[in-house]
Amino acid sequence: MKKIAFFCIPAHGHTNPMLPVAAELVGRGNVVRFYSFNEFEKKITATGAEFVSCDSYLPKLTKQEELGLKNVSTTEMTIQDIRITLNMDTFLDKEFKAFCPDVVYTDSVCFWGKLNAWKHNVPMVVSTSTFAFNRQSAQYMRNSLKELADMIFGLPRISRELKKLKPYGYSVESVLSLIQSDNKTDSVVYTSRRFQPYAESFSEHYVFVGPSVFSKAKPNKDKARPLVYISMGTVIINDRRDFYGKCIEALRGENVDVIISCGNSVDCGAFGALPKNVQIYPYVNQLDVLSRADAFITHCGMNSVSESLYMATPLLLYPQTSEQRAVARRTVEMGAGVMLTDDSVGGIRSAVREILNNDKYRTAAEECSADFRSCRGAAGAVEFIENAPHF
Ligand code: UDP
Repeated sequence: MKKIAFFCIPAHGHTNPMLPVAAELVGRGNVVRFYSFNEFEKKITATGAEFVSCDSYLPKLTKQEELGLKNVSTTEMTIQDIRITLNMDTFLDKEFKAFCPDVVYTDSVCFWGKLNAWKHNVPMVVSTSTFAFNRQSAQYMRNSLKELADMIFGLPRISRELKKLKPYGYSVESVLSLIQSDNKTDSVVYTSRRFQPYAESFSEHYVFVGPSVFSKAKPNKDKARPLVYISMGTVIINDRRDFYGKCIEALRGENVDVIISCGNSVDCGAFGALPKNVQIYPYVNQLDVLSRADAFITHCGMNSVSESLYMATPLLLYPQTSEQRAVARRTVEMGAGVMLTDDSVGGIRSAVREILNNDKYRTAAEECSADFRSCRGAAGAVEFIENAPHF
């Protein structure tokens, strides 16, 4: 029996793949204490893990900081991560002394998890909910000019904030050392070696376990007419009423059924009377919908794409950030999706027709599904965590 401290940032996409791992660890008699946020309490306690709320350590944001986060600014996210780490310092000092974890299992961009594992000298395993990114695989990320400007102009602010960590016993060389994958850190990656770009460039400290999902559902595409599922994920870039509106127009009158998950920022009632073949919800059971779907229009979050391929559903790729562009590019290389380059009503309609009328995308998605299902999933992650550190 081991005591394992889980740490994650407040995001569904980062939290979700850790949940089956927590459930499997608990099932094998380990104690899991999960440091997270109230929004995720229900699904964390359902795994049998102890939930510890960290909401009171979230900094109050100015309007400008809020806008930065809304625009997925790397600078703003980095600065907020450092602030949360500082806010949590005394609390986590006490927790590490009282709980004495044998292993820390932390999300790859959760600074307070990583920094406290180092500070308290506890073996650490990193949970990587995107691709593992090193110098080679990072070539898949094409930063937009806006993203590059954000990073360059944000550097002085970031280094000012980083300096504040030192007096608290956190030694950090650079922000890169905090976020980039290196070949010495034990890391779980929720994809297959086949899907991970440049998998051969990663050491034995990496285990590629495939998507970590709770669903036991198998792909089942038998129905009267095709189902198209549309989602832009769970973070603020899903605030895209314009795009959902165009999708509705594009697919109105087509011989397909449509389910849209629009998130909490968009009012489902804002689209007026919907065509008979379209349903829209703030949130759906995505794995369930994907098991039946024949095409998925997605923002290319790593979890969404992995879940879609796991359920053998080909994709229409509409990435919004550099990381999502990397996932999209790899999906195209696998032959399981097409880029949505023209997001006009006509462009969306013809891209959906292309996916639905051309079997090659479905066949490639089925191959990815077979590959993912041959991976060890949460059980593989658990074995790796229980046996950490790896030498
Ligand atoms: N999700 C869900 N229902 C929805 C929308 C999303 O269950 O209606 C889940 C989805 O299954 C995935 C996660 O939320 O596990 C989204 O993660 P992803 O990495 O795709 O995108 P993010 O939201 O982090 O941008």
